[in-house]
Amino acid sequence: MASSFAPEFSLAGIDDVQDFPWSGEGSSMSWERYKHLCDLMQLGNKAFRENRLDQAIEFYSRANNIKPGDPIILSNRCAAYLRISQFLKHRPPSASEYRPLSGLDPTTHAGLALKDAEKVMSLQSNLATSYILKANALILLEKYELARDVICSGLQIDPQNNSLLNLDRSTANTFTRRNHIKPQRTDDYDCTLCLKLLYEPITTPCGHSFCRSCLFQSMDRGNRCPLCRTVLFISPRTSAISVTLNNIIQKNFPEEYAERKSEHDSLTFPGVDLLPLFVMDVILPCQKFQLNIFEPRYRLMVRRIMEGNRRMGMAVIDSSSGSIADYACEVEITDCEPLPDGRFFLEVESRRRCHIIRNWDQDGYRIAEVEWVEDSYPPEGAERDDLLDMTNKAAAFARQWIKDAQEAAQGDRIRLAELFKAEGMMPTTRDPERFSFWLATLTNRRPSERLDLLRIRDTKERIRRALLYMKAEEQGCRLQ
Ligand SMILES: [Zn+2]
Ligand SMILES: [Zn+2]
Repeated sequence: MASSFAPEFSLAGIDDVQDFPWSGEGSSMSWERYKHLCDLMQLGNKAFRENRLDQAIEFYSRANNIKPGDPIILSNRCAAYLRISQFLKHRPPSASEYRPLSGLDPTTHAGLALKDAEKVMSLQSNLATSYILKANALILLEKYELARDVICSGLQIDPQNNSLLNLDRSTANTFTRRNHIKPQRTDDYDCTLCLKLLYEPITTPCGHSFCRSCLFQSMDRGNRCPLCRTVLFISPRTSAISVTLNNIIQKNFPEEYAERKSEHDSLTFPGVDLLPLFVMDVILPCQKFQLNIFEPRYRLMVRRIMEGNRRMGMAVIDSSSGSIADYACEVEITDCEPLPDGRFFLEVESRRRCHIIRNWDQDGYRIAEVEWVEDSYPPEGAERDDLLDMTNKAAAFARQWIKDAQEAAQGDRIRLAELFKAEGMMPTTRDPERFSFWLATLTNRRPSERLDLLRIRDTKERIRRALLYMKAEEQGCRLQ
């Protein structure tokens, strides 16, 4: 039974089929055979125009058997396939409940239309019709991007073609609409450790992917895959980032990716007034020492610092209040040796002090908002001359003091090494503040005394105290 396909939906450029030319084909075909072919085409076109599309297809197919590779036969059959596909696609569900069209589906027909269209295209790529047919087939297959390419190529051949221009307009809308629909954001691209979009994903040999920093953190606590517990013989430090996965994420979720990036950057570059804290001891500026970082939270902190400006604060817990003391000292990591087991061996130099305004926990370690503090340096004049004079005298005293101490420490190699190191670090006396701190490092002070030295904003007062400490220690030595 023939179905009737109502022409409710028109396809751009598929309003009608082409008539088969009555031009005695000559040598390749007998007159009777050619007559039969023409009859089939006439019947086909009649059926098409009366919307008996499946009958039309039957006639065209028989004609195609007689004369394969004819662009008109193929074009007309293609148009019939397109119409059926279009009809089925836009048929309201209620209609199919009343009149089920079993065995017919829009995609199959669009696929058949595409095959015919491609043959037509190969036969006459210089005609706009070929492009119109192919573009319509691709649109019905929802291959909009490809359809647009075909339309563009067609318009290069026939820039004024109305059907192509219409197609161009309608697909431009569809295409941009489709493009605006974001790919479904499922949790497929989330890290199972931080539950956020993967950032710098590393895929383990067991096939699981995690953010690089998350895997680091997890492996600080053991070398198993956090998901399947497979023992991992990899280091996140040397493992490459999964480039393909990263590209997919970056391309599909650009906004969330940017957010993740800025989040990551803010951890590695916290900003000039934010300082990650290593809570251990009170440090004065002008010191050089070594640190062994083994606690997981500080390993994480050091990794982030090393990606950033290599600076952290050294602070202490105020025993009276139980919270972080109000002053700290910034240190720069001058050498960082990561050990195979995840620990770090650091060489650091203390730079400048700061006042801690507030501090909070971040992934187990502390971050402080700080203000940088400097002694008030007197303006040019008597007061400054006085300070410089005092500094120079203190320097002379310090040189002699070190010499005496070195003599007294003969045989004590550790003490001697300390004194040599201190001697080598002596700053210029033209920077009295820096000098005063250095002077204070010559003797071993209690943490509370060092904290006071950080709090003082009067250079002279610091020099005075440092000298007192040195004299006291000198006397101590003599008394011994
Ligand atoms: Zn993560
Ligand atoms: Zn795994």
